[in-house]
Amino acid sequence: MNKVRDSVIPSSGQKPLVDSFKRPISYLRLSVTDRCDLRCSYCMPERMQFLPRKEVLSLEELYCLSLGFIARGVTKIRLTGGEPLVRRDIADLFRALGRHIGAGLEELTLTTNATQLAGHADALAAAGVRRVNISLDTRDRALFAELSRRDALPQVLEGIAAAKAAGLKVKLNTVALKGINEEEIPDLIGWAHGQGFDLTLIEVMPLGEIEEDRVDHYLPLSKVRGDLEQRWSLTPLPDNTGGPARYFRVGETGGRLGMITPLTKNFCSGCNRIRVTATGQLYPCLGGGERVDLRAALRSDEPERELERALEEAMAIKPQRHHFRIDRRGEMPAQPRHMSVTGG
Ligand code: SAM
Ligand code: SF4
Repeated sequence: MNKVRDSVIPSSGQKPLVDSFKRPISYLRLSVTDRCDLRCSYCMPERMQFLPRKEVLSLEELYCLSLGFIARGVTKIRLTGGEPLVRRDIADLFRALGRHIGAGLEELTLTTNATQLAGHADALAAAGVRRVNISLDTRDRALFAELSRRDALPQVLEGIAAAKAAGLKVKLNTVALKGINEEEIPDLIGWAHGQGFDLTLIEVMPLGEIEEDRVDHYLPLSKVRGDLEQRWSLTPLPDNTGGPARYFRVGETGGRLGMITPLTKNFCSGCNRIRVTATGQLYPCLGGGERVDLRAALRSDEPERELERALEEAMAIKPQRHHFRIDRRGEMPAQPRHMSVTGG
């Protein structure tokens, strides 16, 4: 990471990012690659077309951009993708960013499918990562293979165990899918809580074309909550971890359950997030098409000035809310970008 030109690194103490609805922006989700070693069927098609590598920002550019955001008041950075741990030398970026924890950056974290986490957990902890979000939709090996189109559950469970052993606080993310993992949800929650992990359920979102119609497997979390309350007591918690989840304490397990409900209950009013793709496109909203090109700014003759201009534009165009919906015909119109491009 020492190849970064000093002139491109903005000085700190600049004005914090605030959008036109007066929401302070403190949380960056940075996609480090659109590639992935799984093919979860709700996320991407079997034959996903990945971006040519030359379009993707170098690790130095990703680092440099991150410093620009820290200088403008971003305190939390989540590296995501695609699968962040398939990017070669990604540990270097974690190490470089980790040096800024306590000096502007408060938290460095990642979202991963955990297939390669066993080989990275200790290095992540050493770099200053304290929490990790791991996606796990099922603990049934055959169903996992069907859903992700790869027989990788053993590696994933090994990765989860390695994260725990390295002292990382684990949160599991589970996309709730009607007729797929619906019946297994209570078992997954029970298992996660037994391991000392939080678990957050997510409603499937219409992001990018896939082979199937997502609405067929859309499971509203209002229904899941009703079903869970038949067996457990769920007490709403005031906790806010900086993301869009609402939390509950499950009385019988003692664990924490999160719910992310972009369709049944919009979470936009408190949005503090922006997303940057692996090609340096800043999307101020996951559900909208608005974007500014940070790669062009970064590679221009006056990177510092152009980055400032691009960030101001991003603040001006961040929409008030997303418009995910199921329309009157019962269809879920998809945004053109896959979650793996914008970063989960
Ligand atoms: N590959 C990593 C992983 O799976 O954790 C990080 C990227 S993935 C795109 C981030 C999160 O987005 C995962 O928890 C995944 O389940 C979720 N996701 C992907 N496509 C989704 C969709 N269409 N609706 C809701 N969640 C989705
Ligand atoms: Fe890969 Fe994550 Fe998408 Fe699954 S959800 S295909 S692991 S990017």
